[in-house]
Amino acid sequence: MSILFPTSTAGSLPKPAWLAEPETLWSAWKLSGQHLADAQQDALRIALQEQQVAGIDIVSDGEQTRQHFVTTFIEHLAGVDFQQRQRVRIRNRYEASVPTVVGPVSRPTPVFVEHAKFLRQQTDKPIKWALPGPMTMVDTLFDAHYKNRAQLAFEFAHILNQEAKALAAVGVDIIQFDEPAFNVFFDEVNDWGIAALEQAAAGVHCETAVHICYGYGIAANTEWKKTLGSQWRQYEAILPKLQHSSIDIISLECHNSRVPLELLQLVRGKKVMVGAIDVASHIIETPAEVAATLRSALQYVDADKLYPCTNCGMAPLPRQIARQKLQALSAGAALLRHEMQPT
Ligand code: ZN
Repeated sequence: MSILFPTSTAGSLPKPAWLAEPETLWSAWKLSGQHLADAQQDALRIALQEQQVAGIDIVSDGEQTRQHFVTTFIEHLAGVDFQQRQRVRIRNRYEASVPTVVGPVSRPTPVFVEHAKFLRQQTDKPIKWALPGPMTMVDTLFDAHYKNRAQLAFEFAHILNQEAKALAAVGVDIIQFDEPAFNVFFDEVNDWGIAALEQAAAGVHCETAVHICYGYGIAANTEWKKTLGSQWRQYEAILPKLQHSSIDIISLECHNSRVPLELLQLVRGKKVMVGAIDVASHIIETPAEVAATLRSALQYVDADKLYPCTNCGMAPLPRQIARQKLQALSAGAALLRHEMQPT
């Protein structure tokens, strides 16, 4: 990126009320068939336009074609039965009804490639596309076939690699793998999680990122955060190995969280998407607050590698709030840019 401090979001943006129930995660679509496909494209156009109006530098689809950041991808795979559902504990935190792996998993057709092509046609700005990470996929399913988390993760990594290569081929600039599970299963992350992630990203002809956060501002996450103590040091267990990985960009939660920012130096040399917008609060950050978080991060991240971002997705927020938070992010980055490069 030629611009200093290029801004982006972690991924999701609120959906319009005519597409899905607002301020609700994983809410059902309000349309079906061709009407749904058309409505998703319209929503994508709006999400893009709102990012562009706010001055966001690296834009996304706002995840307008996805009901859930993991299961919508899995729905397109063979070997997973969505009728056979089991209740499991996700990320050791909350129970959910999930589909079952019943046979060898594969990707019979591309999943998001047409959507990415459509986004590419709408803008000349760099675009980022989010995919679930292999470990988070494994953690969002019941596995009745492989019965081995690592093995299933590498099977998913192979599938994700096919999708990532196809997304890069239609002009996606950054492919981001969402791995909130990395903040929970530290031993597995270091044993096989990062290796599976690298396999998903292997040979992909664009930049790759991994997003690791403390989740949306939903009750289960807020309760979990209360148990994490005064300092959230989860990143300390995983960043050293990520620093040596092939992943180009690490996307982390910073603003209003209890993550000690000095942990960012554990990935010194990588580009870091620094979360400077709290997605668990309706309070709009001031540009000065955003700039203050970014300025603190600058002690540990080289200026040319600091990418201002949101802490996580904004899907559950009211649209008006999300829009203002986008503007705050952009204005905060501009403040800091001006400090570093006064004109
Ligand atoms: Zn997140």
